[in-house]
Amino acid sequence: MLITNIGELLTMVPRGDDPLGRIAGAAVAIDAGQVVYAGPASGAPQGAHEIIDAEGALVSPGLIDPHTHPIFAGSRAPEFDLRARGKSYAEIQSAGGGILSTVHATCAASDAELIASTLARLDRLMRHGVTACETKTGYALDGPGELRLLRLLCEVQQRHAVDLSITLLAHVPPPEENRSRFVASFAHNTIPTAARAGAEALDVYCDQGAFTREETRTLLEAGRAVGLRLRVHAEQFTHTGVADLAAELGATSVEHLEQLSESSIAGLAAAGTVCTLLPGAALTLRLPWPDARRLIDGGCTVALGTDLNPGSSYTESLPLMMSLACMQMGMSCAEAWRGVTVAAAHAIGRRDAGWVGRGARGDLVLWDATDHREVIQHYGVPLVRRVVISGSEQRLGARPE
Ligand code: FE
Repeated sequence: MLITNIGELLTMVPRGDDPLGRIAGAAVAIDAGQVVYAGPASGAPQGAHEIIDAEGALVSPGLIDPHTHPIFAGSRAPEFDLRARGKSYAEIQSAGGGILSTVHATCAASDAELIASTLARLDRLMRHGVTACETKTGYALDGPGELRLLRLLCEVQQRHAVDLSITLLAHVPPPEENRSRFVASFAHNTIPTAARAGAEALDVYCDQGAFTREETRTLLEAGRAVGLRLRVHAEQFTHTGVADLAAELGATSVEHLEQLSESSIAGLAAAGTVCTLLPGAALTLRLPWPDARRLIDGGCTVALGTDLNPGSSYTESLPLMMSLACMQMGMSCAEAWRGVTVAAAHAIGRRDAGWVGRGARGDLVLWDATDHREVIQHYGVPLVRRVVISGSEQRLGARPE
């Protein structure tokens, strides 16, 4: 495949003082799923079977969403409205909202229902330019239920072109189980089983109402022992200090960080732990915006994700997260682009994704824009024109029944 007549190509391979490695008047050639040429159109190889004329458009690497919870059933729309009307979390819970309502609906749903709704969410992510994403289990809570969601995510991967990095999530302790027994069983049984069954990473939600810092350490050490990458939902509602623990254990990513303390920044930077920021959750829950500027200035790598989930961030729009990051979190357009490409690829362990050059995977997005800044400034509207994954153009319309 040859994509030619590209007005502005974002390679994401820095050159000079341009962190986006932009090339004007470019072409990209893809063979056997991999990029074999990215450079001036005049130097492109000849003889492609399939040629896409970009008509002067902006072309970027496929976007990478490093934090999603796409497998769930049920609706939390009533809860959204209650929150909009100023009701407290306790009132929302007594009206049947909160995470446990999603857990009940997800456990009651059939495998076929969960697969179909997850595929539809991946379609929507792709329509917003996403070609790879991290996908977490997490709405069953108990070990067997989480392993079921892991199995279903593996089945979803067989049926969707978007590349999934599947994470086992320890979300909150199941209310009906003895807490210390649950943590021990999850560490000794569920985590090793998940590692054998296709999970790439373990994520632990450490916060008030979720796991304590010591429980998180037990779970993360169990994940590390079986070779899983480590991720932590960290410092979202309360400051627990778990970001320091994550850095100590060499976690790949810490996520949220609304309540991060200044003293944690140097440790995260030194550990190379990606700070995955989730503007949609801050927007929905009216939390303080994560301070991306402080993290970047402190030497941290910052990625941006949707946090797609039914309660605190119901969106598949990663470009909207880029807009919020620039409008509210002190990021530049170039930093936001890096946050959804190379930084996000680092956060999900995909070194061949998030950039365009020889040897990178052939994942590209053609935009209804000519300047990369327009995609961020022109917020909340669909600007994705065409999506290519591994050198194959994807259908962006409704999924055939
Ligand atoms: Fe999350």
